[in-house]
Amino acid sequence: MSEQDAIEKLKSGYRAFRDGRFRAERSIYETLVDQGQKPKTCLIACSDSRVDPSIVLQTDPGDLFVVRNVANLVPPHEELGSFHGTSAALEYAVQHLQVENVVVLGHAHCGGIRSLFQDRPRDEEGNFFIAPWMSLVRSAYLRVEGTMPDAPEAVKAKACEQSAVLVSLENLMTFPCIRDRVKEGRLRLHGWYIDIRAGILYVYDPVKQIFQAVD
Ligand SMILES: [Zn+2]
Repeated sequence: MSEQDAIEKLKSGYRAFRDGRFRAERSIYETLVDQGQKPKTCLIACSDSRVDPSIVLQTDPGDLFVVRNVANLVPPHEELGSFHGTSAALEYAVQHLQVENVVVLGHAHCGGIRSLFQDRPRDEEGNFFIAPWMSLVRSAYLRVEGTMPDAPEAVKAKACEQSAVLVSLENLMTFPCIRDRVKEGRLRLHGWYIDIRAGILYVYDPVKQIFQAVD
């Protein structure tokens, strides 16, 4: 597909939306504007083009407040620095929209997670921002290398993708507004993982400490 074809595809998709779903669901959009959005769930997903939350979870407008970034990571709460896009979105979702759930949606074949296994110099073109961002889950990488040093890289990557979801869940609890609401029972945190090739969604069970496939 040429560059122009890719853009034309988006425009024709918009026209199909405008003449189809938007026309059919116009009142939903009007209500969401007049009364404001009231999503119950904030979802942190990867920017990966294959893992589109509204497609794989079949959501309606107004259902999800979505944050997408490289490898669906949540940084720890920090007061220093100015450009905390993910933290700002979380703050808005939790404090202002008062969502009842935060879901971290990891996925198989994540390029961000794979980059942890490639030893590229930080200043190499195309790796200036990725390496420091991915260092957020270096502990997950080290855990995997420590527990299964001889496993094939694909097995390690999957373990790391899942372990990184747990690191993000831990980091969520470093935000005072999230920690307080979780303790008060007003907010639940969820760790999910999707294998888009197999079409299987897994949910982390904190008691059994495993990811289990959804029925
Ligand atoms: Zn990814």
